[in-house]
Order: sequence, then C-alpha cells, then structure tokens
Amino acid sequence: MSGDHASLPIAARVRRLEQRLIDAGLTTDAELDSAVTEFLSQASPTNGARVVARAWTDDAFRARLLTDANTALRELGLSMGGGLQEQRLKVVENTSDRHNVIVCTLCSCYPLALLGPSPSWYKYEAYRSSVVRDPRAVLAEFGLRLDQDVEITVWDSSAETRYMVLPRRPDNTAVMSEEDLAALVTREGLIGTAAV
Ligand code: FE
Repeated sequence: MSGDHASLPIAARVRRLEQRLIDAGLTTDAELDSAVTEFLSQASPTNGARVVARAWTDDAFRARLLTDANTALRELGLSMGGGLQEQRLKVVENTSDRHNVIVCTLCSCYPLALLGPSPSWYKYEAYRSSVVRDPRAVLAEFGLRLDQDVEITVWDSSAETRYMVLPRRPDNTAVMSEEDLAALVTREGLIGTAAV
C-alpha cells in the first residue's frame, strides 16, 4: 500500500478497493450493497446476549467460547463475518475479582456482528483515551462502581481482533430460562461499561 493511499480517509480507501473489484468484473455495486445490508440487518446486541445466556447455562459451551470464540459462535448460527472477512473474536470473562472493558484506542473497532452498531461515545476520543488511563473512574461515570480489590483489564481492539465481555450471571437467576437470561444482557454489559 503506498503512503498516498494509506493517507486517504478509510471510506475513500474502501471505495477505491470496491471500484477495482467492480472494474475487474469480480462483483457489482448491487452485490456489494446487498452483502452489507444483509450483514447489518443481522448485527444486533441480541446476538451477543444469546451467546452470554448460553455460556451462563452451559459450562461446556462457556469453556469452548473462552478458548475459541469464533468456533463456538457457529453453534448458535452466528459468525463474526456475516459472509465478509471474519475477524478473530476473544471473549473475556468477568469474575468476582476481575472486570473487563473493551475499547479501540486507534479508531472504533468493535464486534459489530454481535453487538450491532457501536454507541457514539465508543468512538469519542474522550472514552478511547481515558478508559486506558483510568478505567475505574470512567466506569464510575457510567454508573458502574467497582470495589477497589476488583482488578480491571482494558482490551484494545484492532482490525484483526475484537473482544466481547462475558458479564457475571446476576444473583437469583437460577430458575430463569436461557431466553429470559438473554433479555437481561445489555449492549453496555457486553462492552464492559455495565455489570450486565
Ligand atoms: Fe479501530
């Protein structure tokens, strides 16, 4: 990639690549549009919530998810790519003494397929820089006050690797169905800015 090319805004670079594929007869505008529309129509935090609820109710699935999330997702008919290039997913588990939160310090990389479109604050410089410097204070701003003895790990996403948080299962949910458990899980819980 030439320096000139790399200095273009990402949208212009994507458009240039698309045009080259179209010129080469490999695809069409209509095909590209329908692939993106299909991907976005299925990208939603309800996907991430389903994964979490399964992990809470099936220890073997949880173990597979933490070891190789991309493979485990397919058991629920999900994938990170939606037919497009698949990114590596790492699922990070909250415990009684460890809390995880995700960010992309460079731009706004995010597990779109599982969480849907990212919230606007996720893309803001303020979040991206301060969550790395002082995660405890940033989480408190989101209303999540963690005990001092809970260690916080900040995971920095990249073009190749995305992260999703596996929140702790709330107390007093032993009798709930997997579907009802999934309804408890929020987008912020999957990012790590909320407990669930
Ligand atoms: Fe990014």
